[in-house]
Amino acid sequence: MRQLSARYIAGETIEEALDKLRGLQARGYLGVLDILGEDVADEAEARDVLRTYQAAATAASEAGLDSYVSVKPTHLGLRISRDLCEELYAELLQHCSEIDVFARVEMEDHSTTDDTLEVFRALRARFDNVGIVLQSRLFRTPADVDALPDDCDVRMVKGIYLEPAEIAHTQPDPIRQAFIDLTETLLKNGHTVAVATHDGVMADAVLERQAAAGIAEDRTYFEVLLGVQERLWLDWKERGKCVRAYVPYGPEWRAYSQRRLRKNPEILRHLIKATLRLS
Ligand SMILES: Cc1cc2nc3c(=O)[nH]c(=O)nc-3n(C[C@H](O)[C@H](O)[C@H](O)COP(=O)(O)OP(=O)(O)OC[C@H]3O[C@@H](n4cnc5c(N)ncnc54)[C@H](O)[C@@H]3O)c2cc1C
Repeated sequence: MRQLSARYIAGETIEEALDKLRGLQARGYLGVLDILGEDVADEAEARDVLRTYQAAATAASEAGLDSYVSVKPTHLGLRISRDLCEELYAELLQHCSEIDVFARVEMEDHSTTDDTLEVFRALRARFDNVGIVLQSRLFRTPADVDALPDDCDVRMVKGIYLEPAEIAHTQPDPIRQAFIDLTETLLKNGHTVAVATHDGVMADAVLERQAAAGIAEDRTYFEVLLGVQERLWLDWKERGKCVRAYVPYGPEWRAYSQRRLRKNPEILRHLIKATLRLS
């Protein structure tokens, strides 16, 4: 599992994550720092996570690396208390604003969507350096787009959590269509969109809509996962787009690797072949 995860995870420590960011930056890619973990057990653990994120943001900034921090609400205690979660994000954002670093509130499964958006709205009223994530698979997302505050930085994703058919698209095509339509609406409403995908055809459709609407190129950029579809990153970079790679790290790498493996079992087949060749 450790060998397998080496492609998707920077390592266990911030030093390893900074090395990865440095390598990416040398190749023309910017970064997103994510400390692996979710669903903390208690307030003390959530406060530890906050301190780790503050230290990570400082370390990346002092190293001169262009990256931001991306944080799951349940990692900062959302399931314990929404107020606690908002307080900890606010502390993080205050810290990040002092060192000119951006932070993003990630989106988890549908049971957290209302609280996450509430927390984000409260934070956005106080801070400029905060963004959000919206998931195209959820039926509610068009209404969530309409309810956003002005001038947001939104990461658009398909949504990694498999949601029930009563509340979400479950087939690939409607999820992709919703992604394209929602991104266009976000752009027309004045927001900036981080197009977070490895679906090249869908990404082209997004860029075509953007060009047809005469929206400035720099209102979209790409976000990609470390180790996934690097040929696409290069293609986008060569077409002049900004590409940010998501660099997850931390001691909780095992659960993340298992999720990647479930998403793409091909990885396991390649690994087994490589191991057999070695032996
Ligand atoms: C930077 C970033 C941040 C994200 N943040 C969130 C978030 O906050 N909340 C949320 O719900 N979801 C998040 N996601 C996940 C997202 O919702 C999708 O589940 C994921 O990106 C896969 O969808 P896709 O658009 O890449 O298209 P797909 O059609 O799923 O994938 C396109 C191609 O890429 C390959 N691929 C895609 N993902 C992986 C992978 N992980 N490992 C190996 N191969 C893969 C597929 O095999 C396929 O060939 C994020 C994704 C990215 C890139």
